[in-house]
Amino acid sequence: MVYVLSKNEYKQVTDYIAENRDQLVRLTQDLVKVPSVSGHENEVQQLIHSILDEMDIDPQFCLPDIEVLRNHPDFFETTSFVKHGYEDRPNVIADIKGAGGGRSLCLSGHIDVVSPEPLRKWNYDPWGGDVEENVLYGRGAGDMKGGVACIIFAVKALRSLGIKLRGDLQLETTIEEEDGGVGGVLYLRTVRPKTDAALIPEPSALTISLASAGVMYFRVKLLGVPAHAATAHFGVNAAQKAVPIIEALEDLHKSRQERISYPTAEHDPRMKGRVTTINLGVVRAGDWPSTVPALCELEYRIGWPPGETREEVMQQVEETVADAARADDWLSENPPEIEWFGWKSRPHELSKDDSFVQTVRENVSRVTDSEPSYIGGSSGLDTRYFVHNGTPAVTCGPYAERIHSYDESVSIDSLVKTAQVIAGVMMDWCGVGE
Ligand SMILES: [Zn+2]
Repeated sequence: MVYVLSKNEYKQVTDYIAENRDQLVRLTQDLVKVPSVSGHENEVQQLIHSILDEMDIDPQFCLPDIEVLRNHPDFFETTSFVKHGYEDRPNVIADIKGAGGGRSLCLSGHIDVVSPEPLRKWNYDPWGGDVEENVLYGRGAGDMKGGVACIIFAVKALRSLGIKLRGDLQLETTIEEEDGGVGGVLYLRTVRPKTDAALIPEPSALTISLASAGVMYFRVKLLGVPAHAATAHFGVNAAQKAVPIIEALEDLHKSRQERISYPTAEHDPRMKGRVTTINLGVVRAGDWPSTVPALCELEYRIGWPPGETREEVMQQVEETVADAARADDWLSENPPEIEWFGWKSRPHELSKDDSFVQTVRENVSRVTDSEPSYIGGSSGLDTRYFVHNGTPAVTCGPYAERIHSYDESVSIDSLVKTAQVIAGVMMDWCGVGE
């Protein structure tokens, strides 16, 4: 069923949101003021619960159940689960029943943020929500408490205007997206009814993100033989033995970058081939200049675009390490071990022709007066859990700067536009009832 709304119906909603932008700013500030680094989401979720409660939406807390998650093929133990467990880390969910006869929609946003360190670099209080000339500053202002505020405010706008949707609406604010989203969006997909589409207003400068990259972590462990530095030739230096392995993985990184292109992620020419970066993130070896280190550990992140499977990527890495080890006498006798740990996400991609993508596109173009571009695919995104589960899901949200860095900020104009887009998508997709 297709619902055609009149210009006036959009206008009263977009006007309401523009006229009440102060409320949207205050809501974003209130969320920014409650620190919620992954693992510590409870306090801000209590606040969101009370906000939705005041709107008579009947929110619920939903704690992840690790035993249910363990059976899922995409399960991995996130760093914050290993550190904090899931006991005190609820998702907040709410169901708003439609009048009937429309398509259902899930509006989803993560409420965790990354650490604000190094604090001394900030010119603003990361938990202050300062506003200066149309810009709101703070950790999570852009990624993505601003987007969460837009969801809540768009729903509020429709309710205040007495606009009733036909399709059912699911709202959710989730935990640990920054850490892989396992206890958040993945868990909710295992226990919540499926919707016909989902929208996540992560900061995207009102472009439409359709795809995400696969992301995995692996660790290479090399063993040597400890010895006093004065008699180092009696030992085997595990850190030195890591050098050919590091070089071989760097060669693999370069050859993959040359070979693999993924146009959706390459809207910025500097991103050409970068979807498949193999990053050496951690090097750990030795504890004392006077000792030959007997253990060296390398930790890497590898990304890849839709089109390659997890197994193919793992095989390339394992063969590269094995080949490099065979060329060294010590390493061929004492082959390095590879452990895959943490992040283990598959890529996803949605077609531009998908009808939900088109609904979002039409609303962005109506609100911004320009055609949005399609992006995606350079990192993992929570939308993948919806798409793997058969629900079209799109990322489209405000304009943010320096996310994950100091002085993170979000443009207030773009928050207003995002809330207007979300309201329009709700009306178009779910339909408007009597
Ligand atoms: Zn985010």
